[in-house]
Amino acid sequence: MDFNLTEEQEALQKMARKFSEQEIIPYIQEYDDKEEFPWSIIKKMHEVGLMTTAVPEEYGGPGIDMVGQMLVTEELCYGCLGVGATMAASALLAPGPVEVGANHEQKKYFYNMLNEGKLAAFCLTEPGAGSDVAAMSTTARRDGDYYILNGTKQFITNAGVADVYVVFATTDKKLRFKGINGFIVDRHTPGITVGPEEKKMGLRVSDTRQVIFEDVRVPVANRLGAENEGFKICMKALDLSRPSVAAEAVGVAQRAFEEAIKYSKERVAFGQPISNFQAIRFILADMAMEIEAARLLTYKACVQAMKGLPFTHIASYAKCFASDVAMRVTTNAVQVLGGYGYLREYKVEKLMRDAKVMQIYEGTNQIQRVVISGHILK
Ligand SMILES: Cc1cc2nc3c(=O)[nH]c(=O)nc-3n(C[C@H](O)[C@H](O)[C@H](O)COP(=O)(O)OP(=O)(O)OC[C@H]3O[C@@H](n4cnc5c(N)ncnc54)[C@H](O)[C@@H]3O)c2cc1C
Repeated sequence: MDFNLTEEQEALQKMARKFSEQEIIPYIQEYDDKEEFPWSIIKKMHEVGLMTTAVPEEYGGPGIDMVGQMLVTEELCYGCLGVGATMAASALLAPGPVEVGANHEQKKYFYNMLNEGKLAAFCLTEPGAGSDVAAMSTTARRDGDYYILNGTKQFITNAGVADVYVVFATTDKKLRFKGINGFIVDRHTPGITVGPEEKKMGLRVSDTRQVIFEDVRVPVANRLGAENEGFKICMKALDLSRPSVAAEAVGVAQRAFEEAIKYSKERVAFGQPISNFQAIRFILADMAMEIEAARLLTYKACVQAMKGLPFTHIASYAKCFASDVAMRVTTNAVQVLGGYGYLREYKVEKLMRDAKVMQIYEGTNQIQRVVISGHILK
């Protein structure tokens, strides 16, 4: 057992932290206030290789391993969750089903898009089917060499900024999970429209919209895997991407923790820095413990996956625990800053608003507990 990062991993981590400090943190408040997509930051991330870490070497990428991908995710989310989530949706979540189920030609097409700086989106959730994925009603009707897609996807990250979608649809709703298929879909295919940007509590720089499919013709060659194998592909892909939500959460929590420490040393009350008060010190101690535990669970999920060992339940531990930690730590950081914590100028309120979504997306924390309890009671 070795808890140390390799030299390469440390260098990657440092590079991503430096990017966050120099290219994200100074500019992000303005984007958040305007609820604007930070294109200039995302373009710079692409230029320095932070948008393509997971592209395998044989498809022109650096093929960085899962631990390395998590280090980058954590550091970008230290800067801003919305920026990190844009990267994660495009570079980790959407490629998941491709990595699991695509053939060589499909991978070549998809990874080329990412290498060119295009963004991807993962289209699974629907207005009437969130946790209950198998209740989806977007249909894929076979018509010769094509499938015809009809339906609506909800809450899709990068919907309005991506050029390629990974879409899940059913050939027969009655079959539930046995009728689901995944497709690589060019976003500019006739019949695809997107809804207006959703107005959100947090994650305001990230683009979230509905995607509507009306008689969209998708070649059979774009289907991932065999017909009706899509549910398994989707679940495996979600297993692989859940540690990245945990890494997002660790990044957000780490930032809140550092802001709380800094403020507690500077703020004087009753003639002394508030960091002298045991009530504050214990909050900081709990933050430190919980963040470290969340980080270790995240790494463990990745190492299990990389070694080919069962990791579904550990990925759920990591996602659920780390996002609960991020919610607690950011809420307590606001408390440590007192009234100033409630002001936008002091930044921790954004961390608290952003943190909430990680308990919801990529399987709510109730669903993670369903997965975990199913595993331990098996
Ligand atoms: C900002 C944002 C970005 C997102 N990005 C994407 C994206 O890029 N792609 C995508 O496909 N989706 C995306 N999502 C959707 C997200 O994954 C879903 O919102 C989530 O899976 C929950 O689905 P739901 O909202 O329909 O809630 P529901 O499934 O309706 O759940 C409502 C409540 O019931 C609980 N619940 C449901 N079933 C059970 C059960 N069996 N046991 C216990 N409790 C249960 C849930 O935990 C929750 O508390 C995003 C969501 C948000 C908010």
